[in-house]
Amino acid sequence: MNIGENLLKIIQELPEHVKLVAVSKTKPDEMVMDVYNSGHRRFGENKVQDLATKQPRLPTDIQWHYIGHLQTNKVKFLAPFVSMVESVDRLKVLVEIDKQAEKVNRIIPCLLQFHIAEEDTKFGLDMDEARELLESDAYGKMKNIRLAGVMGMATYTDDEDQIRREFRSLREIFKQLKVMYFAEDDDFKEISMGMSGDYKIAVEEGSTMVRIGSSIFGARNY
Ligand SMILES: *Cc1c(COP(=O)(O)O)cnc(C)c1O
Repeated sequence: MNIGENLLKIIQELPEHVKLVAVSKTKPDEMVMDVYNSGHRRFGENKVQDLATKQPRLPTDIQWHYIGHLQTNKVKFLAPFVSMVESVDRLKVLVEIDKQAEKVNRIIPCLLQFHIAEEDTKFGLDMDEARELLESDAYGKMKNIRLAGVMGMATYTDDEDQIRREFRSLREIFKQLKVMYFAEDDDFKEISMGMSGDYKIAVEEGSTMVRIGSSIFGARNY
């Protein structure tokens, strides 16, 4: 199967309200262009260096989602073009995104990343940290970011019940935040969860955005 066929098969399976982020990390420009030429525009990368070098070489109407861990000193490389930062896991990085977005006169949509997996290698906030962030003076003053929802990654495991529980916990977090802080804010609506191995479960549990790499582009060799 070629890349375009992989993409179409996934798009056909996804309910219409679920957005697809094609995760092109480690993949060459030609492969990105195969997907682009099938009509897809939303792509994801998880390294600032890779994204910052890829972006100028590729069509400007690609919507780039940043999905990796983000160091504050690298935000400035993404701010001019990134279409969403999905991986905000602390106030400090949100402060920096707001600052760099202001410099380039943009409003950058962001997701709060939550730690829902068992492994402690995965980054993300817990509910207390999120509340602290959302109630901080610094957040209250921000004008150049827009919080658009939440993101999370389930544990890498064969245990479907566990994956389902973790996705369900992210959906609960989303619902609580929605009621507590975003009841009047229609922009806060995304639950980004689901990757190649678990996106079907994620969709069943309420995902609005899946991030799929290897099922489109093939396995990665690092
Ligand atoms: C790599 C990555 C994905 C996609 O993973 P696949 O298993 O290849 O679909 C999704 N989300 C994040 C945050 C990633 O780093």
